Amino acid sequence: MTKRLFDSPAYPALPAGDGALYPVHRIFCVGRNYAEHAAEMGVEVDREAPFYFMKDAQSVVPSGATISYPPGTENYHYEMELVMAIGAKVFRANRETAQAAIWGYGCGLDMTRRDLQQVAKDKRRPWDLGKNFEQSAVTTGLRAAAEVGAIGPQRIWLSVNGETRQDAHLSDLVWSPAELVEHLSRYYHLAPGDLIFTGTPAGVGAVKASDTIRGGIDGLAEIALKLGPAE
Ligand code: MN
Repeated sequence: MTKRLFDSPAYPALPAGDGALYPVHRIFCVGRNYAEHAAEMGVEVDREAPFYFMKDAQSVVPSGATISYPPGTENYHYEMELVMAIGAKVFRANRETAQAAIWGYGCGLDMTRRDLQQVAKDKRRPWDLGKNFEQSAVTTGLRAAAEVGAIGPQRIWLSVNGETRQDAHLSDLVWSPAELVEHLSRYYHLAPGDLIFTGTPAGVGAVKASDTIRGGIDGLAEIALKLGPAE
């Protein structure tokens, strides 16, 4: 028998109610999905189609954690986001099958090395250094879509050290969760274990060591993150 040279890490898993866990296999993230955030970044939302980048599943950090200020950046940003969790295999979905494939929702922080992302944008390079790095996907437990109800009226907010920085509503999303699943499933065979970070509203900004981030979306568990010093 061929042996593996080392053990692979287990997939991270998020609490999903009733003592169950939702294992995370892939993380898709939507760029620019709120018009006001796109404007603050000096760009416009592309209303022809959403676009995506990815984070490794191993970048998941549970809400409530204290993490180190990451290496290689001097402009480390929070992005408060609605996260959806796929609960069924879906490929080339229509609106109805897309909606049915959404198992549930949680809160997420798409932590970003904004200076490295900006360099990548300026040089027309991929965003990985700015977006896909260790401990960059902070995520709460999940709540079933049926319990959350229709996405739209919920407030989405984030504070740093008690001061509100982001404050919007999910009705401000340019592309709805079902529209995103419909679109993304043209390019990927989506399956249980796929998380989709749906983009952030306006008000992103930098945090520093010892800052405390809190955020919430009506009907979902609040998210929290504490920043320690750089390693
Ligand atoms: Mn984001």
